[in-house]
Amino acid sequence: MSYVWLITGANRGIGFELTRQLLASSTVSNTVIAACRTPDKATDLHALKSKVGDRLHIVPLDVSSEISIRASVGAVDAVLAGRGIDYIYNNAGINPSDDSPFDLSYTEFLEVLQTNVAAPALIAQLYHTHLERGFRKVIVNMTSGLASIGLDCGPKCTSYSVSKTALNMLTYKQAKARPDFTAIVLDPGWVKTAMGGAGAILEPEESVSGIVKVVTALTPADSGKFFRYNGTQHPW
Ligand code: NDP
Repeated sequence: MSYVWLITGANRGIGFELTRQLLASSTVSNTVIAACRTPDKATDLHALKSKVGDRLHIVPLDVSSEISIRASVGAVDAVLAGRGIDYIYNNAGINPSDDSPFDLSYTEFLEVLQTNVAAPALIAQLYHTHLERGFRKVIVNMTSGLASIGLDCGPKCTSYSVSKTALNMLTYKQAKARPDFTAIVLDPGWVKTAMGGAGAILEPEESVSGIVKVVTALTPADSGKFFRYNGTQHPW
């Protein structure tokens, strides 16, 4: 089989590693549309493209900008030439500060909500017809264990946690609204990236190899679930 993936924030961190592993697969022929906000500076993506050629397409997409999200559709359509998208992977995210509920920046809170939840919502809205034309019809929204009320993570990273909990609810709504789609949230674990920091537990390779196994095995019965990278589930 041959599948098409649209991945946001694909230039570094987990998004880049996901792109790399999908294109290295020996069993499936994946095409990745790697979206990032500054393609000119995406040196790792360009190095990868020099190896895999037309299976990787780099498109500009700043998820904090409605204009950029809307403009991305034209760039993606030019790549697809009528083909559908099998997997929309909303990976781009920010966690600018470890704020607390009684000491947060209103402006920063709005920025976090815009990037982490409003953008995935608009992307799904604008690309749902592309999913309809795909075989798999999967939406993966990258969440965090910090989004879980059941895990009782305490007051840390308030803006980020609230945004990811909202993303979880968005995903639940997407799953309920479109039974023909498979929409899930996925926690990659604590991963050694710029966001996760050097003290994190998982190498990006390990997190992503788990993510690929979980996501490629999804069935419609999994829609609306909150997965971890290793296939177990979090409480909401
Ligand atoms: P990184 O900080 O390493 O990478 C973040 C990525 O998101 C970069 O590619 C960045 O692009 C992109 N991004 C941020 N803002 C925008 C924007 N406005 N438009 C386009 N792209 C943007 O983070 P991770 O790779 O660790 O995180 C990936 C996802 O995993 C996030 O959603 C995060 O919340 C989630 N996650 C990560 C965990 C971890 O431990 N690492 C734990 C739980 C969840 P640019 O280079 O342009 O800034």
